[in-house]
Amino acid sequence: MISASEVLALAPAAIENGEFVAYFQPQYNHSNGMIVGAEALVRWISPKYGMISPADFIPVLEENNLIPKLDTCVFEQACKFLAHSKECNLPLLRISVNISRNDICCEGFVEGLDAIRKKYGVDTKHIHVEITETAAAVGEKEIIDTVKKFHSLGYIVEMDDFGSGYSSLNVLKDIEFDVLKLDLKFISGSIGNARGGTILSSIVRMAKWLKLPVIAEGVETVEQADFLKSVGCDYVQGYLYSKPIPQADYEALLNKSNVGAVVPQVDFYATIKSGKFWNPDSLETLIFSNFVGAAAIFDVHDNKVEVLRVNQKYLREFGMNLTEKETIALDPLSTMNEENQKIFLDMLNRAAETRDEEECETWRCIHSGCCGTENFCIRSSARLIGESAASRLFYIMVRNITKEKLVLESMQTTERRFKAASEQANIYFWEYDILTKEMRPCFRCQRDLGAPPLVRNYPEPFFENGIFPPDYADMYREMMRKVDSGIGSIEAVIPLTANRIPFHVRYTTEFDEVGRPIKAYGSATLVVDK
Ligand code: C2E
Ligand code: CA
Ligand code: CA
Repeated sequence: MISASEVLALAPAAIENGEFVAYFQPQYNHSNGMIVGAEALVRWISPKYGMISPADFIPVLEENNLIPKLDTCVFEQACKFLAHSKECNLPLLRISVNISRNDICCEGFVEGLDAIRKKYGVDTKHIHVEITETAAAVGEKEIIDTVKKFHSLGYIVEMDDFGSGYSSLNVLKDIEFDVLKLDLKFISGSIGNARGGTILSSIVRMAKWLKLPVIAEGVETVEQADFLKSVGCDYVQGYLYSKPIPQADYEALLNKSNVGAVVPQVDFYATIKSGKFWNPDSLETLIFSNFVGAAAIFDVHDNKVEVLRVNQKYLREFGMNLTEKETIALDPLSTMNEENQKIFLDMLNRAAETRDEEECETWRCIHSGCCGTENFCIRSSARLIGESAASRLFYIMVRNITKEKLVLESMQTTERRFKAASEQANIYFWEYDILTKEMRPCFRCQRDLGAPPLVRNYPEPFFENGIFPPDYADMYREMMRKVDSGIGSIEAVIPLTANRIPFHVRYTTEFDEVGRPIKAYGSATLVVDK
């Protein structure tokens, strides 16, 4: 193995001599099996030592401020490759390049890289930069500024090694990364056990909420790959697909694979060791407790539901002052009537079948010592996170939508009453939007006059179809002009339809907060001859 002092002695000349060579490790979109790009990983091909791996020289170069030079050299090789790809009509896929924490502190580094990119005529969208989260420990301000600088030039910035440090989640809050790279080696426990799986699915879900794509790296087994797919992580990189390979091999791969389906597919069945859910210090606990919405883990076997775990937000969502212990002891199905139980179990079955997120709404009756009994409408979404021969494990998110439901119901009741009342009072009414001249007639206008639900350029179509007689067109246009110009209210008697039945037509205008007319409400009632 090469010693640190020798690295230091040989590296500067070796960089100049082109002994540092970029290898490429392909990345795949797991959902369709296509290659989406590659990460450039440096290799030192030394005449004296043969191939030297980064672990043996990167730390030494970092300590001695030689890394910006090396990273610039790798960046240039990536640009050269992209320019070459363009020339040879190879598919133009993005290359991500590693940026060390020392680069961040190096004056003019980003500008230097961008000048190289321009020299090779490469589009920024084809170069991503990877910054590790430990770099954030160096100086948050520096990293925020660097990310901003890359963004202003149009680069996509990936957060490398997410999950390797304790600061991960805080870092996401403060630094605007565009992509998360999740290294499987940092997730405690293997994916085969339930705990590792829950952490992963939580991270992927959280990233989705933040609208951050996730690339899982270090994927070595088919089980890992399929689990990642089942929790919705679409991008993967790892030995399972390919090791980092020399440029020529990557080129051949791009040519050969036609950027097509090359991902092995095997059904995933995780074994559940539910005892492993309980570790208060785990990253899983941190995420589950603080960074997701109201969520629970349900174990389902023989159509029985057992609550394994809930977070505080889950308890708050019901607002019944139930403790965690009481909630876990409560069988969710026992709070539902038969019809709702069926809806809920159907959703779980669908989620197990599709391996996707499935939703349902159920009414539940919950009782607590301090709050009595109350009915809730709950929207649940479920995702299968593991399955064994005996039971299935689901990640359930809930939202209390009781208020929305009740408002909706009361609105529907109001509308029904209004319909009945207008029917009895012989009223036709409509809404007229002053800015757009769009008119929305009531159900009676639609039914009796054959008006469509939305009338554009009102009132012109009503002259064309004869609802307003032609000899009243100018008078009615004048009336509408006054409405448009913000007259508070106006009314007239107008004979309507071919039968010239006299109607009292009235308008009342609604104004915005600065007094501009926005809408007018029109009504027509039959003139009754006394
Ligand atoms: P990294 O950026 O996290 O790169 C991923 C490392 O994981 C690579 O190691 C890759 O070969 C390895 N890897 C990929 N798939 C698998 C897998 O399925 N299983 C396992 N166990 N490992 C896998 P590599 O190439 O030895 O690089 C190590 C580290 O050195 C990189 O970690 C990165 O931090 C650094 N490095 C590599 N190239 C550069 C570079 O050009 N510039 C800088 N600043 N750092 C670099
Ligand atoms: Ca990397
Ligand atoms: Ca990494």
